[in-house]
Amino acid sequence: MTIRIVTGGIAQETNTFQWEPTTLADFSKGSSEIVRGAEILALAGTGTIYGGIVAEAARLGVELIPTTYGAAVPGGRVSREAFDTLRGEILDGIRAALPVDGVLLGLHGAMALEDADDGEGPLIAAVREIVGPDVPIIAPLDLHTNLSDEMIAEADGFVGYKAYPHTDTPETGAQALRMLVATVKGEITPTMASARVPLIAPNQSMVTTWQSPLKEAIDRARSMEGEPGIVGATVLGGFPFADVPFAGVATIVVTDNDPALARRCADELAGLCWERRERFTIHPTPPAEAIAEALAGEPGSVYVLADISDSGASGTAGDGTVILKALLDAGARSAAVAQIMDPAAVTACVAAGVGGTVELSVGGKHDGLHGAPVEVRGTVRLIHEGSFVQAGPMGRGRVASRGRTVVLEIGGRGGIELQLTDLRGHPNDLNYFRAFGIEPTERRILVLKSAAHFRAAFEPIATKVIEVAAPGISSPDLHSFPYQRLRRPIYPLDPETQWSPGE
Ligand SMILES: [Zn+2]
Repeated sequence: MTIRIVTGGIAQETNTFQWEPTTLADFSKGSSEIVRGAEILALAGTGTIYGGIVAEAARLGVELIPTTYGAAVPGGRVSREAFDTLRGEILDGIRAALPVDGVLLGLHGAMALEDADDGEGPLIAAVREIVGPDVPIIAPLDLHTNLSDEMIAEADGFVGYKAYPHTDTPETGAQALRMLVATVKGEITPTMASARVPLIAPNQSMVTTWQSPLKEAIDRARSMEGEPGIVGATVLGGFPFADVPFAGVATIVVTDNDPALARRCADELAGLCWERRERFTIHPTPPAEAIAEALAGEPGSVYVLADISDSGASGTAGDGTVILKALLDAGARSAAVAQIMDPAAVTACVAAGVGGTVELSVGGKHDGLHGAPVEVRGTVRLIHEGSFVQAGPMGRGRVASRGRTVVLEIGGRGGIELQLTDLRGHPNDLNYFRAFGIEPTERRILVLKSAAHFRAAFEPIATKVIEVAAPGISSPDLHSFPYQRLRRPIYPLDPETQWSPGE
């Protein structure tokens, strides 16, 4: 008998400091997408979890029964309507597929709802109610998962990404499917332990392209996975831009029927993170200083100025203006900015037409937390419908879009090329420039609104990456956030926090 695995899910990372909710319509806008049935299977070969899951299912000869998978760009809390609608489709799909041998869920792990801090726990619980206690439920998780008790209680196993930027998304999907299939075949009895560390860490300190404190713990998790009895070992950095009680660093270890080993390993990984707590600090450079350094660079050099506090991939609006203002103040040239979200400015540029000159007030309109609007005068060089195919390494083969996109050239040829967009986006791919007629390797300064995902594509072409200090709701300065629901005490908000693994 062919093993039957039903799959579907909801993936969204919620920045609860983003006032604008994520609605059902938002799940179909820009780079967000709801895929159903055979469309899920068509994700084979892409840089998504299903890129790995579909290929692995074929390799293992199991039948994958797709339901609905909704993946939205990070943003505000998910509306009840969006959650209930997608959950309803997934549950209907599972009911129609019964009997099944296992459930593989496509989750992010840090979804909050407009009326609940945890989206994943209730989703898994609802699936459990349908399939019963004996059908295993397993899911891959994003490294930025905020792990809730209900998630752990309702699922049989999780395995998280180990790379940030998330270049191992397909591999993690495949690993989760292997865990599920081995469970169905009776080869393993997944036994899970988790530990939640009283630590929130800025995303920027979790990057694995350098030996960050989180990567040191992840390296140990990787080595654990080669040890007897361990099926999966995960270090979650958590998502700190979420004011939910269970936000922060956590670990998960799945063993083959060995609860003591799972507990010991989960605690060991938690201890590694806790010992390093003072090193989860980021020291960004003031904008003027970063720009001066870039302008003084050797001819042919490329400086990436990362607007790490206004990262669309962390749910900000992406309309921050502080670095643009500093570029204008410095008279910077050969600078390309991806991007400022400002639909009104886009409309004005479209009205002026290609070649037209406009005077505009751009950005700073969404929430007032990312700098004031900035007056610019420039020439409209390009008007684009906005979508393009990503080259990777992250999200390779997927279509990204920020809606209508305009390139406004400020200061004439060789000045500042500012992309204005309808929607927010996360420039993690060279095609965020190339698709719009800008060759990133030929610009002195690239301004990217991205906390870390830009590194996969841009570190290889950058002379230097500078993390720039600007305000915003993905700031590494966690003291700047008005947390109210987060559990306390927690480091670094409560610097005297005492803890040891096993508590
Ligand atoms: Zn993530």
